[in-house]
Amino acid sequence: MPRDFLKGVQDEYDVVVIGSGLAGLTSANILGRAGHRVLLLEQHYKLGGLATWFLRPGGHTFDISLHGFPYGMIKSCRRYWSREISDRIVQLKNIRFDNPQFSLTTTFDRQDFTRLLVEKFGQQEATVKAFFDTARGMNFYDDQSTTTGELFQRFFPNRNDIVRLLMEPISYANGSTLEDPAITYGIVFSNFMNKGVYIYEGGTDDLIKRMKKELESNNVDIRINCPVDKIDIKDGKVSAVQVQGRRIRCRAVVSNANLRTTVLNMIGEDRLDKDFVQQTQDVRLNNSSTQVYMALKEGESIDESSGDLFFTSTSPHFDTQSLLSRDITSRTFSFYYPRTRPWKKKERYAIVSSTNANWSDWADLSEHEYEESKADLVETTLDALERYIPGVRDKIDHAEAATPRTFQHYTKHQLGASFGTKFEGLAVSRDLPNQVGGMFHAGSVGIIMSGWLGAINYGVIVSNEVDQMLTSQSSAAV
Ligand SMILES: Cc1cc2nc3c(=O)[nH]c(=O)nc-3n(C[C@H](O)[C@H](O)[C@H](O)COP(=O)(O)OP(=O)(O)OC[C@H]3O[C@@H](n4cnc5c(N)ncnc54)[C@H](O)[C@@H]3O)c2cc1C
Repeated sequence: MPRDFLKGVQDEYDVVVIGSGLAGLTSANILGRAGHRVLLLEQHYKLGGLATWFLRPGGHTFDISLHGFPYGMIKSCRRYWSREISDRIVQLKNIRFDNPQFSLTTTFDRQDFTRLLVEKFGQQEATVKAFFDTARGMNFYDDQSTTTGELFQRFFPNRNDIVRLLMEPISYANGSTLEDPAITYGIVFSNFMNKGVYIYEGGTDDLIKRMKKELESNNVDIRINCPVDKIDIKDGKVSAVQVQGRRIRCRAVVSNANLRTTVLNMIGEDRLDKDFVQQTQDVRLNNSSTQVYMALKEGESIDESSGDLFFTSTSPHFDTQSLLSRDITSRTFSFYYPRTRPWKKKERYAIVSSTNANWSDWADLSEHEYEESKADLVETTLDALERYIPGVRDKIDHAEAATPRTFQHYTKHQLGASFGTKFEGLAVSRDLPNQVGGMFHAGSVGIIMSGWLGAINYGVIVSNEVDQMLTSQSSAAV
């Protein structure tokens, strides 16, 4: 008989959180800590969503999205998780770039970028300062018609090399392009420039293990292997979720699943205002990714001078199409040393190569073509790495690839979207509680609310709103 993953579940909770990505986990934790009865339902057999890892024989472990996030993670994790977690966040100081336009190493903060822009790229200090101040001053209520490309053109006209320095890492971090609203760039770029790039020392498995412990201490009922099919609505308010043939009643739902799936499939068009449905249908998904995971044989090592994050490209110029093309020219290598990524006290080295990608390049391949394309991705990535670390191919014990299909499979994100939706998704996500009482969405949307920090912070914002709603309902009932 199949295992019942809902064994012992209650018939009713104050709030059901659908999905255990970083936004879902954070919402569940805050609401549990506030004393609400919380049920967390995750369709996968692991918690974490895209914040995940996998193991391979030979003592190898690979992280999928642990490459770098802004300093703000320390504060968010300390406040909304625990000191144990925030104390493990450390800076990555060795960020490298190599492309036909320039090669350099940086600590990736405002001070060092100012030095580079003035000394290496010949810009006036006043122009650089004005650019940084403009990016820093951007906020959600700003004019949204200026694109990132126009912003760059204003400060650094016709300098594709500068655009590449400023934009390549952000495109990699949140899938934004030169055509997206400039605020999506300004907010994320300024977060990084504040104090550089940070990582969780200990690996994603350690982080998620500690988060699970914290959730349990806040009495969150956690259930894996539990895909939610439907959200029931009665008199314009959420009343229950349907999962594994059961109906679990609740006063509020926070969905961390894909925004479009939440609105169009789990709630359903027939329950919603026509305009809102149309607005949701118009939300564009962000791009997906490919990755190649490479582990070194036991006893082999890589020198730490290889860097922590290495942005490489063979494309002569920077543009959105070549970043996404299946004919890969850009690869970001993350190097994991035993210091930054310990695994059961074993001295292991791993490298993960990541590239933004289009779903359409992978979606319709036959199984045979798909396997061939994956093998080609591994081989061409090893060739690219050889250029920087001669002989690395012979040191590698295991290499394999993930594609947009892999991301779709494990997270159920439509089109394997790595970074949620384009900007218009934010308005739909924010408007959801006005459409259906007690119905909230927290997860990667609008470019800004994606990435580890964006997802956690969005989880914080939404859980505070849920808390207010539940608390006001309870006091009204007294
Ligand atoms: C290759 C790659 C590299 C990345 N690198 C970085 C990086 O270096 N730095 C950074 O900050 N960010 C990075 N990101 C982005 C970051 O990982 C994500 O933005 C963030 O983890 C998303 O969190 P989320 O809360 O939106 O939810 P997600 O992680 O998208 O999780 C959603 C969860 O909902 C669950 N779910 C879906 N449908 C259902 C259902 N019906 N019932 C129950 N559960 C359901 C899914 O299984 C999943 O667990 C990267 C992403 C990718 C793909």
